[in-house]
Amino acid sequence: MNRRYLLPFKTKRLPQIHTDVLIIGGGVAGLRAAAAAAETLDVLVISKHQLSESNTYYAQGGIASVMQADDSFTSHIEDTLTVACGLGDRPAVETVVREGPARIEELIRWGANFDRETDGRLAFAREGGHSFARIVHALGDATGRELANCLMAVVRKHEQVSILEHTFVLDLITQDNRVLGALAWNQQRGLFVIFGRKTILASGGAGALYRETTNPSIATADGHAMAWRAGATLRDMEMVQFHPTTIYIAGSARSLVSEAVRGEGAKLIDKTGYRFMPDYHPQAELAPRDVVSRSIMAQMAKTRTTHVFLDCRHISEEAFKARFPGIYQVCIQFGINPAKQPIPVHPSAHYMVGGVACDLLGRTDVEDLYAVGEAAYTGLHGANRLASNSLIEALVFGKRAGEDAVASLAGHSRPLEAPIVAAEIAPSERTELDIQDVFGSLRSLMWRNAGIERVGPRLDEAMEIIDFWSHYLLDKVFDKPAGWELQNMLQMSRLITAAAGVRQETRGVHFRTDYPDRDDRNWKCHLDWRAMSKIPLKSAVNNESTPEIDHRAGSGANS
Ligand SMILES: Cc1cc2nc3c(=O)[nH]c(=O)nc-3n(C[C@H](O)[C@H](O)[C@H](O)COP(=O)(O)OP(=O)(O)OC[C@H]3O[C@@H](n4cnc5c(N)ncnc54)[C@H](O)[C@@H]3O)c2cc1C
Repeated sequence: MNRRYLLPFKTKRLPQIHTDVLIIGGGVAGLRAAAAAAETLDVLVISKHQLSESNTYYAQGGIASVMQADDSFTSHIEDTLTVACGLGDRPAVETVVREGPARIEELIRWGANFDRETDGRLAFAREGGHSFARIVHALGDATGRELANCLMAVVRKHEQVSILEHTFVLDLITQDNRVLGALAWNQQRGLFVIFGRKTILASGGAGALYRETTNPSIATADGHAMAWRAGATLRDMEMVQFHPTTIYIAGSARSLVSEAVRGEGAKLIDKTGYRFMPDYHPQAELAPRDVVSRSIMAQMAKTRTTHVFLDCRHISEEAFKARFPGIYQVCIQFGINPAKQPIPVHPSAHYMVGGVACDLLGRTDVEDLYAVGEAAYTGLHGANRLASNSLIEALVFGKRAGEDAVASLAGHSRPLEAPIVAAEIAPSERTELDIQDVFGSLRSLMWRNAGIERVGPRLDEAMEIIDFWSHYLLDKVFDKPAGWELQNMLQMSRLITAAAGVRQETRGVHFRTDYPDRDDRNWKCHLDWRAMSKIPLKSAVNNESTPEIDHRAGSGANS
């Protein structure tokens, strides 16, 4: 069942807010867009919890950028395209890599305190898939917190920015393929309408669709689902990245152990103490994430265990604590001293590679709607994301989208909004299912059947079960976020599963045990799901280089 809106409503009957730019999401992408748009426009940023509850805030490892004289744009571009496994769109890759250094320098000017060597130069880490140490980081392993705090301070200083926290956006309101704003809800106001001349979707990822995830509970793919219902194209939704190393302690939330720990020489061992990664890939622990995740799953199956171990015992306790204070703290809480005991780890859903298709300015195929950050598909990651490339993508495209909103509204006066009426929905007489029960079961189903390894019959089974739940849940009208989130999760789980079923090959993060080879002849293309259609269209990968690219290193702003 594909209803256009989750709720029936009449805009005339609801309280209304008007703004120039409505930004749905207050993570790095939304905040960077807000900083750009607020130069001349009124901006309203919405987040469904407090602003600090975002994937951004939990980011650990760092931000990839070419900042050292002996590094080069060419190297970062080629590393990104290699990991993207044939689906990376070169113009997006070149744009992010080339504009990355300026975004980092700007953050430093705005007060972001990145880690430095004792001589004052920026400290760089190396992560899997990168051929150079080009990851800037902050507070050891709390880059996201520093980044979020810096951007929140910048945005809060702008008089033209308003922020509404604890506010849930249900749907984008459209008329004739144009977004007019959104339908929102919070405890104080109930339902209300926000009219925005431009809307920027910065709603983050989809990790919460999976039982095992590094993402906070906000990551329920709401933005993907509302864009989908509004008619936007969703691209390559089968591409979900799993992080190889989250702390595995039964019953506890899964805390990420950053790739940077492997960058510092940590080794993966099984329960017998055997270092297994060299058996699977020449880059061993620094192989691309999908390879490491699958290797861990294979070794777990071989040794019949629920987890493997990350051995950091070559790093002294003082050094570990100084470089990875957050991870150290979590380990100690569970009685594990990483300098003395290997850390139990297991892969988890981490990053939504697929998303709302957009161009190099963040514009989607629905007029006046932009998508940025993890909700978007710019073409940077292709079939897999290179470590630490998402924060930089969000910074680059957040700024671009915000600036384009400014440029395209310049000189235009606010149009009069026509009243919008969303058709009444006939009350359903079908049985009610328990929301919490389906929520947990859906996440387990996605983990088992549409997770790290996929196979046709199990994807079909997952779709059948999701369709069954959808039959009883997508026909209901809920009045609280838990119900709306579950409806979004059902729609996007169905789409991810269907997309994984359609792509009959193995590429990047998408691993089909029944089609274990990459098949460029049939599948070197994007899969576009347009306007709620059930069948995707294939679209070509863009491999054209942007002409003016400067292949030298960044500004060398290592100051
Ligand atoms: C544990 C962890 C570690 C990571 N480490 C790194 C790293 O080292 N380097 C790197 O490059 N990337 C890393 N990533 C990925 C990176 O953090 C994210 O891709 C990036 O932060 C996404 O930013 P965003 O602004 O798109 O979304 P988010 O930061 O997730 O923000 C989403 C926003 O949307 C809001 N929202 C969502 N739905 C609604 C709704 N219905 N109504 C209202 N508001 C809504 C949320 O409230 C939130 O404000 C990591 C991710 C995780 C989870």
